[in-house]
Amino acid sequence: MFAYRPPLKDIQFVLADMFQAASVLQQYPEFAEIDQDLMQQVIEEAGRYASEILFPLNAVGDAEGCRLENGQVKTPAGFASAYHQFCEAGWPALACDPEYGGQGLPHTLNSVLYEMLNATNLAWTMFPGLLHGAYSCIHRYATEDIKKTYLPKIVSGEWLATMCLTEPHAGSDLGLLRTKAISNDDGSYRITGTKIFISGGDQDITENIVHLVLARLPDAPAGSKGISLFVVPKIFPEGERAGQRNSLICTGLEHKMGIHGSPTCTMQFDDATGWLVGEPHRGLAAMFVMMNSARLQVGIGGVGIAETAYQNSLAYANERIQSRAVNRPESRKNEPADPIVMHPAMQRLLMSQRAWVEGGRMLTYYSALLLDGAEHHPDPAQRKEMDEQLALLTPIIKAVMTDQGFAGASNAVQIYGGHGYVCETGIEQYMRDVRITMIYEGTNEIQAIDLLMRKILADKGHRLGQLLDTIDATLAANADKDLSVAVTAVQKLTATLRDLTERVGQASLEHPVLPYHVASEMMRLTGHCILSWLWLKASQTATTLHDNDPAFYDAKRHTADYYFTYILPETLQLAGVVETCLARAKTQGLQDFRGDLNVQ
Ligand SMILES: Cc1cc2nc3c(=O)[nH]c(=O)nc-3n(C[C@H](O)[C@H](O)[C@H](O)COP(=O)(O)OP(=O)(O)OC[C@H]3O[C@@H](n4cnc5c(N)ncnc54)[C@H](O)[C@@H]3O)c2cc1C
Repeated sequence: MFAYRPPLKDIQFVLADMFQAASVLQQYPEFAEIDQDLMQQVIEEAGRYASEILFPLNAVGDAEGCRLENGQVKTPAGFASAYHQFCEAGWPALACDPEYGGQGLPHTLNSVLYEMLNATNLAWTMFPGLLHGAYSCIHRYATEDIKKTYLPKIVSGEWLATMCLTEPHAGSDLGLLRTKAISNDDGSYRITGTKIFISGGDQDITENIVHLVLARLPDAPAGSKGISLFVVPKIFPEGERAGQRNSLICTGLEHKMGIHGSPTCTMQFDDATGWLVGEPHRGLAAMFVMMNSARLQVGIGGVGIAETAYQNSLAYANERIQSRAVNRPESRKNEPADPIVMHPAMQRLLMSQRAWVEGGRMLTYYSALLLDGAEHHPDPAQRKEMDEQLALLTPIIKAVMTDQGFAGASNAVQIYGGHGYVCETGIEQYMRDVRITMIYEGTNEIQAIDLLMRKILADKGHRLGQLLDTIDATLAANADKDLSVAVTAVQKLTATLRDLTERVGQASLEHPVLPYHVASEMMRLTGHCILSWLWLKASQTATTLHDNDPAFYDAKRHTADYYFTYILPETLQLAGVVETCLARAKTQGLQDFRGDLNVQ
């Protein structure tokens, strides 16, 4: 039976054993009271909510979907009630400022929560998934009046939020957007335009919805430097029109591959009233706060979904009897066939899933700790450094972990065989649902370009160099004889990445198209650098703690070994592509395939 068991032991391994998260967080004055017990309590409670309340609604939401009736979106049965329980338990407020009703707990705990919410019901999680981003964006950029009106409602979850960026002709390229904003005499603005694909654009869960809308002022320069951000409520919260509806409406719902429980809305704004957030024409910078939060959350979702896919395909592989295994033990010699988990090919698929899930968990919690440090470390220089590291890691987490979320779900379908392709077993829904994560919040191609062009080459590899220095320094300090092969592999990889970054940067001066050809490879290489470093740390931690729980820590070391033996060598191929592109750029130049693609 399809199931979800919160992976509490592995979460504890990453947070407590590997990162000593409670001690790290205690150094920040706001988190002086945090200890391991409190963290464990919150995590267990989050796991209970996700597995007992949300997981049973996942298939319901998929089968029932959302409906648009007389301009009002209806969500699947049970979604609203689950959300109200979520709010009553205080989950929306977890990492928000107590000044606005938040619990003031670390982002690290929020990341664990969101891993489990995504693992159990991605479509439902899209509703509260934007709350933290909206909160951070308004908290940082809005006026005190706007903060006072909106933040307490967002923090309590009483009102949900949306991000309204996409238009029919403006997806990845937001510089093309046309929605207009014209100022009123009272300091508000009239917003007119059509937004498409807006998650939760309308719903019947909360009485009000806070739309964060990108639009252009009349004097806006063309392109992305002329975009402003507005807060546009569905219902006016105060003033003469308090309680009345704003002039915006959901005019359609998309029929789509997955996440049927999440309404993907076309929104029409007709002179809707909104208020500016941040400076005129600087809306993208403000919106990036929301987008970065959403990107991290989407990447964490990739890990969560891969976890559920792994758990279920493993259970199936232990039960399904098919074919005699090549290495069957004596005890099974009279059996007609063996559980498929005994076939090396199935073990490979399962171990790949496991290594990516556990590695992804280390990467996302490591980043969440950076986010807490970037906001709360008493030393401004440390805050800046952590913020910069996080900026580097965000596109990697978004893209690499969603690629692997999909790969994990696909591996799981493969393990189920034909029984995975049909609907009854439940795994195909995961594969359909997770596919969108590679597209929204900036497609994975856009993430790769963002990483290479803006985060790596724009500062001549300085930020990346700092991260690689940290990796190299800890490698040298912790060299362990049992891990010498793995340490050498990571050392080689950091050297390769430094060298390729330098050469791609140099070559791009003469061949500006080059980085765009190799951005995806460079991103995955960077991802592997960090993951391999974290896997070394995990393996060393497991060795130190081995005697406390030999089976668990042995499995951890073997999974690390699997990563180094079967997964990390992918970097040879990735580096090979970058090398050949560098060589071709210098000789015959890089091909523009457009003509060839159109030859029939
Ligand atoms: C279910 C769902 C929910 C969504 N939720 C929201 C939401 O809440 N709010 C919101 O504003 N939007 C939302 N979106 C929109 C989503 O963010 C966009 O679909 C996404 O940004 C891509 O834009 P697009 O679909 O127009 O594709 P395009 O931008 O047309 O891209 C098509 C392809 O071209 C590639 N491409 C484009 N430019 C480049 C480039 N420079 N280099 C390389 N490749 C490139 C892309 O990677 C992609 O593979 C949602 C979409 C869906 C399907």
